[in-house]
Amino acid sequence: SPTILWVRRDLRLSDHAALTAAVSRGGPVIPVFIRDGLVDELGAAPKWRLGLGLEGYGEALTEAGSRLILRSGPAREVLEELVEQTGAGAVYWMRAYDPDSVDRDTRVKEALKAKNVEAESYTGHVMFEPWTVETKQGGFYKVYTPFWKSVETREVPEPLSRPSSIPAPDNWPQSDHLDDWHLGAAMRRGAEVVRPYVQLGEQAAQTRLGVFMRDKVADYNEARDRVAVDGTSAMSENLSLGEISPAQCWHAGLRARDAGKDGAGTFLKELVWREFAYHLMWHTPRLLTENWRPEWDAFPWNEDERLKEVKAWKQGRTGIPFVDAGMRELYVTGRMHNRVRMIVASYLTKHLMCHWSIGQKWFEDCLIDWDPASNALGWQWSAGSGPDATPYFRVFNPVTQCQKFDPKRAYIDRWIAEEHEAPTDTALSYFDAIPESWPLSPDDSYPEPIVDVKEGRQKALDAYQNRDF
Ligand code: FAD
Repeated sequence: SPTILWVRRDLRLSDHAALTAAVSRGGPVIPVFIRDGLVDELGAAPKWRLGLGLEGYGEALTEAGSRLILRSGPAREVLEELVEQTGAGAVYWMRAYDPDSVDRDTRVKEALKAKNVEAESYTGHVMFEPWTVETKQGGFYKVYTPFWKSVETREVPEPLSRPSSIPAPDNWPQSDHLDDWHLGAAMRRGAEVVRPYVQLGEQAAQTRLGVFMRDKVADYNEARDRVAVDGTSAMSENLSLGEISPAQCWHAGLRARDAGKDGAGTFLKELVWREFAYHLMWHTPRLLTENWRPEWDAFPWNEDERLKEVKAWKQGRTGIPFVDAGMRELYVTGRMHNRVRMIVASYLTKHLMCHWSIGQKWFEDCLIDWDPASNALGWQWSAGSGPDATPYFRVFNPVTQCQKFDPKRAYIDRWIAEEHEAPTDTALSYFDAIPESWPLSPDDSYPEPIVDVKEGRQKALDAYQNRDF
């Protein structure tokens, strides 16, 4: 009987345990992507990027003699209907770890099993299943370094190669048309502005990884913090949709380390930050929605998204060039350098004392590498409310950070046009990207700081010291 391959955030053919198992089971394989409520809830940029990813994945499957079937509706109902229509005896998928997906998948599994349909989920979106990494006391890890130590020497299975062929059914079930889903509808700047920054699909992801390992990883230790330099892997975009697997990145990192390339060890550690985020999200799903440390509920956060300071932060008009450059990079490219993510997050949560969830939501709307676990951990880490967070009294100073990590101000010049004699094309492109409701122009004068760097820091520290927790 046919096997349904329920495709989710795993848009690749190689190192895909569920696909490999489906092919091994014998019989035709029917890949299907379901637009359910969780897809509808995605932020504008991740949803748009998903649409591109699905288009690319559909083409890759077609080239491999298969197809991608698209269906809409609650996953359980859609899968039950498909099983009935195709006579499938099994449904396989790659596991997800966020609480809503876990909840949905558990219900789907039960419903299918009740109908005597084999339902199996596989590892691959992470390397280390969250429940397999335990402290000596049998609990989960709350601090990164011991987590790293407990996994660094683990054997990660060699990535699976792509199946030589994917058996097709005689008749394909009906499919929606991707264009009718309008996944890019909320992303008006998508096609023109952000598209050039996208590297789409499995092949591009592999090339990106190869180029990084060949040309960049040796200098990664130094280059990764120089914000104007393209010195990191950029794999997060592809990891987000599973166009590449973390195990493929891990093994490439191991090979580079064995070849004596200096930064490879650091790259492996960074990949494990992603694993750590998934570990924490799985064990404490409140990471996504609540102050991980409940004592932070008593902190006098600004929670009103309509505050003019929040608007200025989103629009890259705080008057702090390093922060504004980052926010504009985010809006135009759908990405932001990691160091700058930390700085804009610190600025929002400390200098402006805004609740981290405001920033988390804006990032979710703008990032093409959006990842529920890494985004939540990054925000809670920056705000001080998370496990293993930066101590609250360590407030990033955006001015000294800029002197240190962008000493020639190349990054700032790349993104700030106002009051520059010859603004760069990228800085100007921001003004083409923004909506009409943001009446900004490169000819405007650059704003004065909305909050003085020193005063903002002091105000946040005072609030922290006077806290009643
Ligand atoms: P590289 O430096 O090449 O690192 C390799 C890989 O390691 C990355 O692709 C990523 O998968 C992983 N990694 C590196 N740093 C981290 C980290 N701090 N936490 C988790 N994984 C990491 N990352 C996302 O993928 N999606 C997000 O939505 C996201 N939101 C963030 C929000 C904030 C406030 C902060 C501070 C960080 C966030 N990060 C997020 C983590 C980090 O900024 C990005 O993973 C990194 O910038 C991606 O660039 P890269 O692929 O070139 O990374």
